[in-house]
Amino acid sequence: MKVYAASIQTETNTFSPVPTSYEMFEETYKTFRGQDLINPNFWGAPMVAFQKLANFYEDTYVEGLCVAAEPAGTVPKKVYENYRDEILQDLKAQLPVDMVLLNLHGAMVAEQYDDCEGDFIAHVRQLVGNDIPIGVELDLHTHLTDKMMQQADLIIAFKLYPHTDVADRAEELYHFTRKIALERLDLQHACYDCQMINLFPTGISPVKEFIDQLIMLEKDDPKIISISFIHGFIWGDVSDLGAKILVYTEKKLDPDGLYAAKIAAKLGDQIYSVREQTRVNLLSVEALIAKLSQTKGGPIVVADFSDNPGLGGMGDATFILHAILDAKIGNVVFATIYDPSVVEEAYLAGLGKTIAISLGGKFGPLSGKPIQANATIKFLNPQLTQTFSELSLPLGKAVAFEINGNMIIVNALRSQIYAPDTITNMQISLSDKHAIIVKSSEHFRAAFASIASEIVRVSTPGVGNMDIKNIPYKNLKRELWPINKI
Ligand SMILES: [Zn+2]
Repeated sequence: MKVYAASIQTETNTFSPVPTSYEMFEETYKTFRGQDLINPNFWGAPMVAFQKLANFYEDTYVEGLCVAAEPAGTVPKKVYENYRDEILQDLKAQLPVDMVLLNLHGAMVAEQYDDCEGDFIAHVRQLVGNDIPIGVELDLHTHLTDKMMQQADLIIAFKLYPHTDVADRAEELYHFTRKIALERLDLQHACYDCQMINLFPTGISPVKEFIDQLIMLEKDDPKIISISFIHGFIWGDVSDLGAKILVYTEKKLDPDGLYAAKIAAKLGDQIYSVREQTRVNLLSVEALIAKLSQTKGGPIVVADFSDNPGLGGMGDATFILHAILDAKIGNVVFATIYDPSVVEEAYLAGLGKTIAISLGGKFGPLSGKPIQANATIKFLNPQLTQTFSELSLPLGKAVAFEINGNMIIVNALRSQIYAPDTITNMQISLSDKHAIIVKSSEHFRAAFASIASEIVRVSTPGVGNMDIKNIPYKNLKRELWPINKI
């Protein structure tokens, strides 16, 4: 068995004014033949799982180019096409292969390509022909399209949000795609449009029970091979936006695909029926300041939801920090503000020095105004990291500043914040703090819950606007709750 695997990933926030540049891909994740690992991170977890199973089965495993970019705005056409063509050229040179595995996101949008993944899978199909199976792993924040489903033999999306099951899904994908290649496993698929869009954290009722049910069905129902609950990605203005249920059954047990369609519709209607319970409640900045002024103790963990780099925020928005400094609230840790130039200024000045900085707010109105302050340099870390799903994720060169009794971590590599060791790795304690502010929407919950006295999430005017009803979609052509459907 010769297995070829490759990866292009990003989650495009089409409302962000900052294009996802070539440099953003180059600094986030890039490997070729598993070598030249820039960052052994979350984006590469499926590749590690593929490699592990290839060793187990003693398959010949050839890994092509793998790239990912921390989310930002629409990808320039040439950037997408160059990466795509580089992989296709390499795959062509490796033919014949027995199966192809693609680790994609599902919500990548480039200029003139609303469906990068559909386009990419179709190009791979053209190259390998109809007899070679193509298995695709997707993030659940995907705009699932007919083209993707038609061109791939099997698509498996993450089941969990926070995404802690990426490697498990990769292993499933490997097993089943291998069965299609070797044992002529024949699949049917059906997709059901849930006609809604929202965030659906899977650790919270009622979505938690729903996911448990999907896992039970996969295990207990002999006809079912795989079920994915596609959540959709709110900040992508494309016609395929929305939550969907994707079911694969075994063809010999479901010859006409009716069973797959029945299960998909049943599950889709079920999750739609509990939609009101999935509404996301976010505090305003004013309500947060009132809360911090009126409470003692902590730490209250506060998510700066709308500037989460994981959904395309630039990570340098200052709305919350301005309000905290203006209200003279102290004993707060801020993790983090992305600002490479301020990091460089701190390194030039040196530890213990107090310098005048103009911090954050550098990517336009959605980032707010820069903070003008005298800041004391308390700690320098040339390679700050954080831990997520047992992976050590880089945050780049970092500095901890003290401003008016608050600690502000400033870093040089854009990333959302997953874990408290971002803060402890800057020699800042956690338990004695009044509040800890993190740039994240949901993923922080997994690791911060155990240290938080309370968790709140705050909406700011960033690119991650959670007022879904008023997001200015231009390409939506069908009814979706809560935008234009009750
Ligand atoms: Zn996701």
